[in-house]
Amino acid sequence: MVIVLKDQATEQQVAELMDWLHTFDVKTNLVTGVHSRIIGLIGDTTSVDIDAVRAKAIVETVKRVQEPYKNANRRFHPDDTVIEVGGRKIGGGSLSVIAGPCSVETEDQLMRTAIAVKEAGADFLRGGAFKPRTSPYAFQGLGKEGIDLLLKARKETGLPIVTEIMDLSDLDLFADVDVVQVGARNMQNFTLLKALGRCDKPVLLKRGLSATLQELLMSAEYIMSEGNSKVILCERGIRTYEPETRNTLDISAVPLLRQKTHLPIVIDPSHATGINSLVEPMSLVAVAAGADALEIEVHIDPKNAWSDGAQSLTPEQFAAAMKRIRATEHFFHDELNAEG
Ligand code: PEP
Ligand code: MN
Repeated sequence: MVIVLKDQATEQQVAELMDWLHTFDVKTNLVTGVHSRIIGLIGDTTSVDIDAVRAKAIVETVKRVQEPYKNANRRFHPDDTVIEVGGRKIGGGSLSVIAGPCSVETEDQLMRTAIAVKEAGADFLRGGAFKPRTSPYAFQGLGKEGIDLLLKARKETGLPIVTEIMDLSDLDLFADVDVVQVGARNMQNFTLLKALGRCDKPVLLKRGLSATLQELLMSAEYIMSEGNSKVILCERGIRTYEPETRNTLDISAVPLLRQKTHLPIVIDPSHATGINSLVEPMSLVAVAAGADALEIEVHIDPKNAWSDGAQSLTPEQFAAAMKRIRATEHFFHDELNAEG
């Protein structure tokens, strides 16, 4: 962190500021130039609140030179994190596919979808039991019954399950869930993030509707700073001015996050586009960009789905998409191996 001081700052004020900075366990280096004075902070500045520094009367400007996140930072953890769950791995070079309905609706709907996605080569089953709906009058999910059905589907298919938690008070219901999803709307529910940080369970953290990548990484940091390092980041589209798609897929998030963090990266082309016919092309782009996983909504009867039917693939569409997804994965994998 570099702090530029106002010209009129007295020596006494500068000394007081330095004393205050030292309480954060960092060293300071005061440089007096011809026209201005700056203080450089040396050491781990993650606990120094940049806004508190900015608020000091003698501070002209302040700039971070190091990222404010530590646990999620590739700088301190150069190797990719690989998360093992239910005998499968997320991260570290292979592509995982998480597929299933937006919402768990009935036993028949879930079982048929689960069997179909497994046959098509999915690695994980997704399904929402607690649904974050824009309207309070829309279907809110089956709750505990939905989780019980997911556990049944896992037994039937062997696919580990991914499902969303909305409220901390439901945490006990997730005891047997393989991957707990935090939805876009809860990305900055810091109480929930901290509680999940104290669990020994992989967390799939979705990027907020209008969140920056740094905010996403800071939310991952909330989970990791409590001890849980099994965090999977998910880009699911962000709000832009384009109304043709539900959201705008920020594909550059994949290579950018790859540089900034060692955590696995998932792309959700379903919520990113909201349009069934765009799901496959966006999946292929995501694989080419180097995503570690895809999360895709599949429904046995999208036209009659209780939520997100317009973006859900039929089992047949999913099976066809999977062929091209795997072919794209192998193409890039083989290319890389040939190079290496
Ligand atoms: C979901 O995956 O079911 C979901 C609600 O997604 P998001 O939080 O990205 O809107
Ligand atoms: Mn959905």
